[in-house]
Amino acid sequence: MSIIIAVDVGGTQIRAAAYRRGSLEPVEMQRTPTRGEGAAFERMCTLIQSIWPEHEVVEKIVVALPGPLNPESGVIFSAPNIPGWENYPIGPELEKRFGIPVRIGNDANLAALGEWRFGAGQGHHHVLYMTISTGIGGGVINNGRLLLGTRGLATEVGHVTVLPDGPMCGCGQRGHLEALASGPAITLYVKEQMAGGAVSSLKNKESLSARDISEAAAQGDELAIQALARAGTYIGQALASFLHLFNPSVVILGGGVSFSGKFLLEPVKESLQKHVMDKSYLQELRIANAALGDNAGLMGALALGLLPDN
Ligand SMILES: [Zn+2]
Repeated sequence: MSIIIAVDVGGTQIRAAAYRRGSLEPVEMQRTPTRGEGAAFERMCTLIQSIWPEHEVVEKIVVALPGPLNPESGVIFSAPNIPGWENYPIGPELEKRFGIPVRIGNDANLAALGEWRFGAGQGHHHVLYMTISTGIGGGVINNGRLLLGTRGLATEVGHVTVLPDGPMCGCGQRGHLEALASGPAITLYVKEQMAGGAVSSLKNKESLSARDISEAAAQGDELAIQALARAGTYIGQALASFLHLFNPSVVILGGGVSFSGKFLLEPVKESLQKHVMDKSYLQELRIANAALGDNAGLMGALALGLLPDN
């Protein structure tokens, strides 16, 4: 049985795993910090080499990458936090190095593919996946195919305007969903409210995270509950538009923030009800938590590797 090597390049670590066709249990798996001695590309190559199984045929390498990229040409346009990866032909460079076919994909797109094949989207043909953590990304499976767009840049679901002239987004535009409902956006909102005099159990916390806010909400902290509700309302507003565009049968929510439970989910559902143009979009719509957790990128890369090449 031949081997597919899946690589997931994240903001803090690069992980690589070797899978035998037909198995979801990796034969080998290793990780390395994304930032460290030497160029990121060389570190990734060393990592791949370290899991390369002896005496077995490796048929392809698939890499999930954190940035806009063109899956056809194998070029990544930019990767936050990785110096030198601007318009970098990572696919062709890896092919040159290892002498086998290489495919690349946006990590959120591939996570969508992974959830569809192996996770919460199994059995569905129309899937909308949204991951809410440091950023907001996603992917769409339309009639059993990953939607990519003309240059592979489709479904940046975190970069839709939900509040004109709203807070600045990491991408440089204002009022995007990511600037209002990502982990850092929720944290910033809570800090601003406390600076303005709002009372909260989080007041004396030195470094505040979205997880702290979820925990405070579970303890009944009014500001934390309100901050998650605000984020959920914006997420629901954006999701309503995505339902109008893609008409999925399942919406899968992943990423750390999505596990804030009812404090996020109930406002999302209320907001969806309020903003959807016709209730038929919600009939038989399933809203599910992502099932693959931290492995979504690797499993997504594997899912892409298992697809026929054309
Ligand atoms: Zn943006």
